[in-house]
Amino acid sequence: VPVVAVVGRPNVGKSTLVNRIIGRRQAVVEDVPGVTRDRVPYDAQWNGRRFTVVDTGGWEPDARDRAAAIAAQAEIAVQTADVVVFVVDVTVGATDVDEAAVKMLRRSHKPVILVANKADNQNLEMEAVSLWSLGLGEPHTISALHGRGSGDLLDDILSALPEPPPIVEGGPRGPRRVALVGRPNVGKSSLLNRVSKEERAVVDSVAGTTVDPVDSLVEMDGELWQFVDTAGLRKRVNQASGTEYYASLRTAGAVEAAEVAVVLLDSAEVISEQDQRVLTQVVEAGRALVIAFNKWDLVDADRRIFLDKEIERELKRIPWAIRVNISAKTGRAVDKLAPALRRALASWEQRVPTGALNQWLTALTQATPHPVRGGRAPRILFATQAGVSPPRFVLFTTGPLDAGYQRFIERKLREEFGFEGSPIEVSVKPRK
Ligand code: GDP
Repeated sequence: VPVVAVVGRPNVGKSTLVNRIIGRRQAVVEDVPGVTRDRVPYDAQWNGRRFTVVDTGGWEPDARDRAAAIAAQAEIAVQTADVVVFVVDVTVGATDVDEAAVKMLRRSHKPVILVANKADNQNLEMEAVSLWSLGLGEPHTISALHGRGSGDLLDDILSALPEPPPIVEGGPRGPRRVALVGRPNVGKSSLLNRVSKEERAVVDSVAGTTVDPVDSLVEMDGELWQFVDTAGLRKRVNQASGTEYYASLRTAGAVEAAEVAVVLLDSAEVISEQDQRVLTQVVEAGRALVIAFNKWDLVDADRRIFLDKEIERELKRIPWAIRVNISAKTGRAVDKLAPALRRALASWEQRVPTGALNQWLTALTQATPHPVRGGRAPRILFATQAGVSPPRFVLFTTGPLDAGYQRFIERKLREEFGFEGSPIEVSVKPRK
């Protein structure tokens, strides 16, 4: 969802404008001089288009370092917003503070819409002409309080937003790409043979699809899946699989080409260093991950207890991976694979709305603030999901965060929003 940041000095009417834009469906904190509002995002809609409005808060008029406060606000607005709405009070005109802010906004190369607010009558509308001097083009004269001009403003905000991505629901996206990886003899070819046999095999040539000849198309659970780089797996049955070096190159290639990886582990053996390397390859490539414990037909009650401890110890760093216990040999639970892949891919592509993300984060950081370091504790000002596949989050902060605190945020983020089966990335942008 695109983000619109509303920027301006205190008392120019930002809250009133934000209320106008969101249609008063959510209460906005009043613009009280001297009181810092945190950056609060609201969900808004106009002409069927959804977007997020961020009220970037007032500059504290009595802040000791006013220039720094403006810079911080402008920077956050600029880094997170698709469009900046810059509000000026037409009854006051452009102040030197406004001019300083415009300089910073201009450097961002983001579209800036100039709003001359409090133009409650025609005389005041005339006053707005002087705001051309800010160099932001024609001022949009509005009265946020009375609603005058706000519809036209919203139309212009919408046309400045980036084009919405085309809706591809059930469209011709092609099959999801799966890498089947794991150390030699873990059962990769057996599993591929099993899913091709059990389900109607549509391998190698399907009219109208372009599939790399080294890939296999397999139908599982009513859907086509593209197992990438499986040529070697199909031909070789129970034969030596070459050196580890070539095995790891093959793994890297398959993982790169895939969206989700199935890492096979041997339930009858300990989780080895080579297994760990394969898991690391998948996580570092940022692919969705399903761990399949194969050869489950060999697992008895004692072995199970042992395995639980093994998992606890060896897979601690990836508790979010989805696990299935299968047997390529007997076919046990192989039907669990497709649902696991779907769930991992859904997490991999999940988007958390900016509003929900920041509401959650505000509550979390209020309950558990960053520990004080050298008399100060960095604050998180605003968070946004910068991307998907895998989900990537950016935290805008007043300073660097402790590694431990950042991990805490990541863990809580998962607790709140899920992401089973997908790595997530959290990065921190401290303001300068
Ligand atoms: P790859 O090197 O990973 O492709 O492994 P293969 O598919 O060639 O399997 C290696 C060996 O493990 C073969 O002897 C298979 O028969 C055996 N195997 C594979 N899956 C299973 C399973 O689920 N249970 C048991 N008991 N043996 C399996």
